[in-house]
Amino acid sequence: MRKNLSIYIHIPFCVKKCVYCDFLSFGADDPQINRSGAVRKAYVQSICRELLSYKSISKDYIVRTIFIGGGTPSILLPGEIMNILATLRSIFKVDEAAEITIEVNPGTLTAIKAAEYLDAGINRMSIGLQSAHNDELAMLGRIHTYEQFLASYQTAREAGFRNINIDLISAIPGQTLHSYLDTLERVLKCRPEHISSYSLIVEDGTPLAEDTELLAKLPDEETDREMYEATRKVLEMSGYKRYEISNYAKPGYECRHNIVYWTMDEYIGLGIGAASFFNGRRYSNTLDMKQYIRTMEDVFDKRSADEIYQSQALDTIRHIDETVDVDTLMEEYVIFGLRMTRGISAADFYDRFGHSLYDVYGDVIRSYVASGHMKDEKGMVFLTRKGIDVSNRILVDFLHDENK
Ligand code: SF4
Repeated sequence: MRKNLSIYIHIPFCVKKCVYCDFLSFGADDPQINRSGAVRKAYVQSICRELLSYKSISKDYIVRTIFIGGGTPSILLPGEIMNILATLRSIFKVDEAAEITIEVNPGTLTAIKAAEYLDAGINRMSIGLQSAHNDELAMLGRIHTYEQFLASYQTAREAGFRNINIDLISAIPGQTLHSYLDTLERVLKCRPEHISSYSLIVEDGTPLAEDTELLAKLPDEETDREMYEATRKVLEMSGYKRYEISNYAKPGYECRHNIVYWTMDEYIGLGIGAASFFNGRRYSNTLDMKQYIRTMEDVFDKRSADEIYQSQALDTIRHIDETVDVDTLMEEYVIFGLRMTRGISAADFYDRFGHSLYDVYGDVIRSYVASGHMKDEKGMVFLTRKGIDVSNRILVDFLHDENK
């Protein structure tokens, strides 16, 4: 029987870098990107080559979810996404009911692209709005306005997308609880199937971290907390269910791809910086664009796709994480799993690791059940609302001592 597989495809190009962004992405003015688009074209070809390198094992798998993320995948030219997905389908069997998502940024989506995505089998779109207020978007260094978002949203709906996520950020410099609530209200008027809202994190090395003026405008901790609580109240009142700490969906529209990460099922990541958890190994690709493209060219010049997989020639661009032992996997399984409101299954834990969840984590689970932060019902262990509100503190207690 074929095993389930998910595939992530990283498209690291953006129009311009946002001030808070520490994702692996390049603005058009980045010296690593040339104006003729040669790097973009070579990158798309390299993704297709990387896909080919899995040809010899693909018959054992069926692809249940695909996520094209970035970066800004919608920056690719018409035909390029189609090319990648056609290559993928020529190698892997893709389930007819597969969830196939593309991330899109307002200002980069056209009706032609939206139609192409649907033709290529993409059935879910994730749009990065972040805020419905143009002054807040400007603070974040976003390239688009709220009005451009509305136009992109309409383009997606008119093209026929029936499963749309809208990404939001709270605790933006200059944002107030009032303006955040207004953003939520405007988003709800669009009636998307899924909404994600993450609190802004100031990452070292980003322009935001160096900008004292912007930093001075960050909402205080209490306002941040109020925004977080408002998200749950407002969205739950409007028929969205929180299924993960920061993710809300109408019934049946939970993001299946993200659930694969949180349940630690197998996935392959393609492109620079992409991580994989596949065949018992955890590895991530080089962050270096030139090395990635050059290696894909060299390797494919000399070998067939079968030889490439078997010789593991691509290991030169892959960092294999050798530290993954069963203790680490159990820890990650619990920490990712408890992010979801459904929690973790004691039976699944035993099937995977051959240990009882209670033998490994009994003390910590019992103490949080006693304090009302966790529940254990019908074989599922999960955080209560009280527990979710302080989840960071609780999850640390599931780390083995040396990692605390
Ligand atoms: S659009 Fe997304 S990936 Fe691109 S720079 Fe902005 S935050 Fe980063």
